[in-house]
Amino acid sequence: MSKEEFIKQIAAYVKQYAPSYGIKVYSPIIAQAILESAYGTSELAVNAHNYFGLKYREGRCKTCIGIYNKVGSEQNPDGSYVSSAMQWCKFADMENGVIGYFDFTNISNYSNLKGVTDPQKYLEKIKAAGYATSLSYVDNVMAVIKNWDLTQYDEKKEEENMSNSSLVTYTRITNNKTSPRNHAIDTITIHCIVGQWTAKQGCDYFATTDRECSANYVVGKDGSIGLSVDEKDRSWCSSNRANDMRAITIEVASDTTHPYAVTDQAYEALIKLVADICKRNGIKKLVWSTNKSDRVNHKNGCNMTVHRDFANKNCPGDYLYNRHGEIAEKVNAILNGGTATTPATPTTTKELYRVRKTWADAKSQKGAYSILANAKAMADKNPGYSVFDSKGNVVYTGKSTTTATQKFTPYLVKVTASVLNIRKGAGTNYGTNGAIRDKGVYTIVAESTGKGASKWGKLRSGAGWISLDYTKRV
Ligand SMILES: [Zn+2]
Repeated sequence: MSKEEFIKQIAAYVKQYAPSYGIKVYSPIIAQAILESAYGTSELAVNAHNYFGLKYREGRCKTCIGIYNKVGSEQNPDGSYVSSAMQWCKFADMENGVIGYFDFTNISNYSNLKGVTDPQKYLEKIKAAGYATSLSYVDNVMAVIKNWDLTQYDEKKEEENMSNSSLVTYTRITNNKTSPRNHAIDTITIHCIVGQWTAKQGCDYFATTDRECSANYVVGKDGSIGLSVDEKDRSWCSSNRANDMRAITIEVASDTTHPYAVTDQAYEALIKLVADICKRNGIKKLVWSTNKSDRVNHKNGCNMTVHRDFANKNCPGDYLYNRHGEIAEKVNAILNGGTATTPATPTTTKELYRVRKTWADAKSQKGAYSILANAKAMADKNPGYSVFDSKGNVVYTGKSTTTATQKFTPYLVKVTASVLNIRKGAGTNYGTNGAIRDKGVYTIVAESTGKGASKWGKLRSGAGWISLDYTKRV
């Protein structure tokens, strides 16, 4: 029997018999069995179906069918251990072993366990009543509950069904929302916020802007997680009412230019957050499709959508868009493996080039790029900045003689071509989003290097990027 199978089986019996004994919380009991029996592999479990280390007490457990003799040890209050031959309950099978646990604790000493709904309180009470002597007992059992996410077996209170993530580090609720949402949560929509912000900066922005926008969560460049719109409410995020009614929307801090890269910290926090959202909302598996029609129609179980499905936008940026499959994989590994701390599959390390003043000065970071050329371009734009590999080695030092200003100042250009394509990204390798045919004057809010032009400029309207080779600065 695998560990997972053991947990499932024991959990089923605990849930079946606990209510008739007035016990209202199951996760600590499942964890006790895991710890005490080493997932059902201990000598007592194998030979006596005793999964809880229940000592023999005459007449106490009605399903007990005999005595099993084995040396056991106990811890004294001073931390020392004593070992001696002890008598243990023997049961016919796992089901009877679980009933034995409830009989064993169904005496006046343990009467204060009844009705307890908090796992930690249950453990503190049962330890105080003399069930276990190990000094670190409560901590050890709580760690098992956490590691296997055993609270999923506990009854959920009504209001907990649409709760918020406990991973949140900053909360500021915006008025930019519709309350409540009219659809169950069954979709995840990840966005890029186009700025290397913290969660606090993002939530503060949504709370104070007069633009009608928001997101349920903001993931900061430092891995901070902010709550801006309660999960029970609909955010104004993806330019599509129906989508946001059913989706949890997440804005992730990103670079301001293509490919809108996010930091490792933000990426890791995003994975954990999405896994947590899925767990609490009963999303068993995250399914991504590179086919827009699959996404917007939720075909084949697809439950991830992106902003560009609903609006003429780059969002979530190619950096995150191209990682949606990987995000689904990583989240599903957590959902299947049950542990958030140790991914089931080793994470592949992709080289990421960071642009900073010095490696130690992480706060100075202008961005993190998977493409070296983009990192170099960013370093060039910022005097005193260098490009570092993931180990902190300098791989490129920006042209410090450049007179470029620290901050990009938008400027006007006049289009000189009669037809100038607007592209979804900075390069001819991106699809078009229409074209400019009026030889008009446009505001450029960002620059980038890219295929097919000596430089690309981002239009203020958000329509996309144009080759600056066919423009004149005015
Ligand atoms: Zn977006």
